Amino acid sequence: MSTAKLTINLDALVTNWQNLNAMTNCETAAVVKANGYGLDAGRVAKALAKAGARNFFVAAAEEGVALRRALGPGPGISVFSGHMEGDTKLLKEFQLTPMLNSLDQMLRHFETLPGHPFGVQLDSGMNRLGMEPAEWAAVRDIALGQGPVLLMSHLACADDPAHPMNAQQLRVFREMTDGIEVPRSLAATGGMLLGPDYHFDLCRPGVGLYGGEPFGDALPVVQLDLPVIQLRDVEPGESVGYGNAWVAQTPARIATVAAGYADGLQRALTKGDVFAYAGEARCPIVGRVSMDLITVDVTALDQVPASLTLLNEEQTIEHLAQAAGTIGYEILTSLGHRYARTYQG
Ligand SMILES: *Cc1c(COP(=O)(O)O)cnc(C)c1O
Repeated sequence: MSTAKLTINLDALVTNWQNLNAMTNCETAAVVKANGYGLDAGRVAKALAKAGARNFFVAAAEEGVALRRALGPGPGISVFSGHMEGDTKLLKEFQLTPMLNSLDQMLRHFETLPGHPFGVQLDSGMNRLGMEPAEWAAVRDIALGQGPVLLMSHLACADDPAHPMNAQQLRVFREMTDGIEVPRSLAATGGMLLGPDYHFDLCRPGVGLYGGEPFGDALPVVQLDLPVIQLRDVEPGESVGYGNAWVAQTPARIATVAAGYADGLQRALTKGDVFAYAGEARCPIVGRVSMDLITVDVTALDQVPASLTLLNEEQTIEHLAQAAGTIGYEILTSLGHRYARTYQG
């Protein structure tokens, strides 16, 4: 079998949720959009529900439908994109709670699903989703009359604790919601780490659950093992891969492993310090990353194992992200569909 193996440690994921939960006195929900950051929203949410998570967030109603099918009735499922045209039937049938983002969405919701639970997303300065202060001031009495279950907003710079935008958004969110007897939520992973002022009634971590920054104490959740398909010895002067990008200076042994940029391992990875691990030993990646293959210099190994490891406790999604000039979120959500996925825990 030449399929790379992605192992997802649900115990580590649950521990991350519990450790984040222990940092606050409020409820901790879980964000499982983009199919649980690429790791399978159903499995992720089921593991977290078993550990005590009661509310989940997705980006779109369709994701909520898939999640409801996996979770069954009971846990709350909220939709960040709100109530879009065409969502009505799904929201109703699958008991999804839209976070209404605009007057349009509000009118649609109250007209088509009166009495159906909803939240309101407020824009405290990110200018991405949610009602702005003036819009909210105009409609808030009507909205509050319909009994929202949550008022939420999102921070733009929470991964940088020193950024003045955090305090500014906190102030705006408070101005928009202080004195209202409805549960409030402002913090995702980064916001949780900013301290209790940011916690309100419910926190919504995503990336920290899956082992990513800015939750520096997160346990890694994914391991990626790439089977060695072929081994060859090259002489000094011989090149490896597309564009002859790497040329052996000394006699070398090259392992070709099965995964490439079509599996989310970006070509830019080779710009940084990314290695293929044989146990503890680090082997340099040489040449370009192909669509399905990566070449590794294993000259230093006495014995080449059946597979080399690209993601483990030493080398995490953050290392790959740094090498490729991106963020852990993007590495996670790009992890390929070809991998044979195994769930632990
Ligand atoms: C993605 C998202 C989250 C989770 O963010 P993380 O940084 O992954 O913890 C929370 N709230 C909203 C509105 C989001 O879009």
